[in-house]
Amino acid sequence: MGISTWLDLVLLFLLFVLFAYVFVTVTITNLHKAYFAFHFLMMLWPLCQFAIQTAANPSLQLFYLNIAFVGCSLIGIGWLVFTLFLIGRSDMLRSKIMTILCVPALLAALGVVVNPYGIFVQPIHGGYIQRAYGPLFWFIITILLAYLFISVYLMLQTIASARSPRIQSQVRLVVKGIMVLIVCALSDILLNVVLAPWLPVIPGLTSGGILLSDIIFIIAICRDKVLDLITIAHQKVIDTIGRGILVLDENETIVEINQSMRAYVDLQLGDRFEIATFLSRSRSESDKESFLQFYRRRMLESVEIEITLDTSDRCHGILHAAPIMVNSIWIGRTIMFQDVSELRQLVEEKKRQNIILQERNQELLMIQEELYQTNRKLEQQVITDSLTGCYNRHYLTRQLEHEVVEHVRSNTPFSIILLDIDYFKQVNDRYGHLAGDEVICSTVETIRRNLRKTDILARYGGEEFIIYLPGTNRSQAAMLAEQVKAAVESSKVSIPNEAQLLSITISLGLLTIDTFADKVLENARGYLTELFKKVDEALYQAKEEGRNRIVSRAPD
Ligand code: GH3
Ligand code: MG
Ligand code: MG
Repeated sequence: MGISTWLDLVLLFLLFVLFAYVFVTVTITNLHKAYFAFHFLMMLWPLCQFAIQTAANPSLQLFYLNIAFVGCSLIGIGWLVFTLFLIGRSDMLRSKIMTILCVPALLAALGVVVNPYGIFVQPIHGGYIQRAYGPLFWFIITILLAYLFISVYLMLQTIASARSPRIQSQVRLVVKGIMVLIVCALSDILLNVVLAPWLPVIPGLTSGGILLSDIIFIIAICRDKVLDLITIAHQKVIDTIGRGILVLDENETIVEINQSMRAYVDLQLGDRFEIATFLSRSRSESDKESFLQFYRRRMLESVEIEITLDTSDRCHGILHAAPIMVNSIWIGRTIMFQDVSELRQLVEEKKRQNIILQERNQELLMIQEELYQTNRKLEQQVITDSLTGCYNRHYLTRQLEHEVVEHVRSNTPFSIILLDIDYFKQVNDRYGHLAGDEVICSTVETIRRNLRKTDILARYGGEEFIIYLPGTNRSQAAMLAEQVKAAVESSKVSIPNEAQLLSITISLGLLTIDTFADKVLENARGYLTELFKKVDEALYQAKEEGRNRIVSRAPD
């Protein structure tokens, strides 16, 4: 053979390397990669069998034989890898056992290529079309069967564990495919190797087995969309989603249950889901009975209920039931359970904080009210005389400054009475200061009883008091002054530790203002001072004239 012949082989090899590069680097699932690699290995066997038969050169025959058996050595481990992806246990690929399991396959492949002392194969009649197999061949067959049996064992385990009906049916079909391949390969060995001296060669047995099993895989792949990305993604989403999902058929039998739902429902595929039993293990603030009635009677509608499961962690969630309709026909329902414990805790925490805030608010309102009351008391104290409880001179003066202006504007009369207790020094001297205080208070009470609501009584100083009578003309004021004077005169004051009651009198100065000049508005305070002066003169005159009397004055 010339160099050009080998050149084509080298190019084929380079093309294969490029194919492998694209195959490894493109984004497809590992299941896809495992399947295509495995399929490629299977294709090598019949191709090389054909090549051996057609090649005249014994070296080439050995070369093809080597490729066929290297593929054959690796097909077992390839099968195992494909199985692990298929049953969803690809995590096992990273385990140490898997690394150890690769060793026999690699040793076998190495032995095939090296063929030391002809322990794998020896030529008959100078070529390899007819050949005698050595012990390595049996080693390859043994490990191949071992890999196949491990794969079958794992698949049967998956079928028994009933993880998902989709995976179950796929695995069942693939097990059938493997069994077909095993039967065909063993028949090939029996008929064409063990019984070779006595029987004619029956070609294509293993290749036929490979084809048959591959057809079975392809049926599984197409029927269950094993390699369909969207289906794989859907299954992944369902299995990894945090929400529990249960799919029931028309008899309430479970046909799908995802990983999350298994935490809440201790049932398997094919079991009946009893909604009432499930609810009996939970508490709800809503009416469970009416939910159940709705669930049973109005199957075409969605319904949900908030429940707390009686589990150790008191999981709180929303159970949602929705119909599955195909062409307006009810064929089952989906039950979803969403754990809202964290959300609920947040809401509870918010409520708790709200209550605390409300309480703080209430406290603040109370403090505000207390402050308001204290303020009012303080304001009252500022304008009140502490001994008698009537207004003080400061308040009266301030009030009158406003009032006078109002009177001028509305042209209404008003009167002022200034009164003083007669011979009060004598009371103090005779009965003491405290008794004097008593007399002052008692006199104020008597005066107050005879005033109208609108009149203002204020302590002017010592035992002198001023009465402001708004809207009161001369005669009305004279009458009121007379009334007050008489009341004081007739009232008897009791003195502590004194048997006898005390009788006192007052002198009064009266001033009525019924005509106003506009200049008043310019200086109300000055005008007021003048009025006080005048009424003081009237009082002085009353004292002069013998006390216990009223002297009336009119402004100039
Ligand atoms: P008159 O008839 O002229 O008014 O004679 P009077 O003795 O009442 O004289 P005056 O009005 O000047 O007396 C005021 C006295 O009132 C002087 C003072 O000792 C006494 N006094 C003033 N304020 C108080 C007080 O709050 N309590 C007591 N107990 N006495 C007071
Ligand atoms: Mg006096
Ligand atoms: Mg006095």
